[in-house]
Amino acid sequence: MSEQPHRLMEIKNLKKTFPLQTGFLGTGGTETVTAVDDVSFYIESGETLGLVGESGSGKTTIGRSILRAIEPTSGSVHFEPRKGEVYEITGLSSKKMKAVRPHMQMIFQDPYSSLNPRMTVRDIIAEPLVVNKLFKGTDIDKRVLEVALRCKLNVEHLRRFPHAFSGGQRQRIGIARALVMHPRFIVCDEAVSALDVSVQAEILNLLGDLQEEFELTYLFIAHDLSAVEYISDRVAVLYLGRIVEIAPSKELFFSPLHPYTSALMSAIPAPDPDSPMQPIILKGEIPSPINPPSGCHFHPRCQYVQAECKTMRPELKEYKPGHYSACHFSDAMELPGANELGEPSSIRTSRI
Ligand code: SF4
Repeated sequence: MSEQPHRLMEIKNLKKTFPLQTGFLGTGGTETVTAVDDVSFYIESGETLGLVGESGSGKTTIGRSILRAIEPTSGSVHFEPRKGEVYEITGLSSKKMKAVRPHMQMIFQDPYSSLNPRMTVRDIIAEPLVVNKLFKGTDIDKRVLEVALRCKLNVEHLRRFPHAFSGGQRQRIGIARALVMHPRFIVCDEAVSALDVSVQAEILNLLGDLQEEFELTYLFIAHDLSAVEYISDRVAVLYLGRIVEIAPSKELFFSPLHPYTSALMSAIPAPDPDSPMQPIILKGEIPSPINPPSGCHFHPRCQYVQAECKTMRPELKEYKPGHYSACHFSDAMELPGANELGEPSSIRTSRI
């Protein structure tokens, strides 16, 4: 019987900074880059939270900080794999973290470089079980075969090396490796970005099926908005290390409350070439995180900017139930959203 949903992940005031050597061979001293700036959100058990933003917005840093693949600078991450069993991830010793780690896994972006070319598929999938000493002998083979079949690989595939597989098959090996530990939570870090569109659809459908069967919870990091809309229950939008909007997926795509989200959504190509919708062209580039703009980080590119935007940081506020935005004027603006769903046709047909 499936359990009642609860907050599986609760992230509060997460911050991650990196030192940066400047000048020729580091002679200019050290500056600080704030990759993730005071970010708070939660993920319900069994849901998929999409995380979108431009390159350098901090998406991957958030994913890795939550798993403690890198150490957050400050903030807290509460993880409740089962109701009532709570871990404060950021405060755990490495020994205790080892016990929690099997519950939290990651699927990587590049299915070509994330698999060891010298290991057979069987050994790649079995590796987490061996390292964590969870299974022994024939139990390992039984478990490896079980997840491999679930990920649409076969017995023959287990004897081969990664170079013998296509991109989609390699990503299925990566998914099987993440799944072999029976995790509760998986960070999918650009898991379909390197794949062809037709293969993307196949992998997204597989992730959806596995989620249902194993009651998985996903943080789905991507810059492909169609893929994010397709798989996510809710979506968070990042800009220069801060969450600017978070809402149920459809609401965020079609009724955004933040000018940055609105610009992103307006840029989704409309299936109808005669559509009157015009994309909103943002001025300039995303600013440097070394010296971000004051107040609202988005103000130099925002067409609705007012004087207070340049000095006052807008907090993430709930404007509608479950719909949060970090803009001083979200309750006073009507912004355009996506015109129509820009789903790749292969995603639609693969669902038939
Ligand atoms: Fe634009 Fe001001 Fe809102 Fe920032 S706070 S998104 S600058 S209107």
